[in-house]
Amino acid sequence: MQKRERRRKRGREEDSAEYREGERQKRVSDWVPKTGIGKMVKAGEIANMDEFFAKGYKVMEPEIVDVLIPEIKDKLVEFRKTARVTRQGRSFSFRASVLIGDGDSYIGLGTAKDRERFPAINKATKSAKMALRKVRKGCGSWECRCHEPHSVPFRVEGTSSSVRVNLLPAPKGTGLVIGEHVKDVLRFVGIKDVWSKCRGNTATTLDFVGATINALAATNNVKYSADMERKLEEKR
Ligand SMILES: [Zn+2]
Repeated sequence: MQKRERRRKRGREEDSAEYREGERQKRVSDWVPKTGIGKMVKAGEIANMDEFFAKGYKVMEPEIVDVLIPEIKDKLVEFRKTARVTRQGRSFSFRASVLIGDGDSYIGLGTAKDRERFPAINKATKSAKMALRKVRKGCGSWECRCHEPHSVPFRVEGTSSSVRVNLLPAPKGTGLVIGEHVKDVLRFVGIKDVWSKCRGNTATTLDFVGATINALAATNNVKYSADMERKLEEKR
């Protein structure tokens, strides 16, 4: 009983903002960059993630995200115990999928396996950081036209396996008209209003999350924005 009490207390501490910030600072100070870009980031030569992406750099080391986005949040999207039959008997491992986001314009999803529970989650978090994508928000709704970043700037599409997700601009107050299991993806970049059209097997949460992230990343697609600008031009 006492042991359980202690464990619960420790669980709360691990959830607290101070604990997480301490862990982040430790990761940053322990970090020995392996790449030239990593060295520049640790030396403070890059101001933020926008500058990092504008220069065309890629996140080759997860600590780059720890330095440039201190407020990054993560969420365990899926956690599975998988079994494999070997000559020695059955061997178990864990597969974790972690979603990360800064609540504004960056999002990532990572999946990893390990024989232990926490290393699987840690590996997945690192891989999510390396897969970070930038999202451009806006208000592409003709009924709204407020120019505030509460929705998507234009219709975007993303796929993952057999799943196809379309995100459409919606006016203020619409809310997130999309499956419950992908709402967090939109919340993680601060999108409040969106309509959606989804196709595919609804049982695969992970593919839905992946397709939604790919759709969000398409807001940065040059082809899309050039097309949109032309349309705006025609309307004038
Ligand atoms: Zn609007």
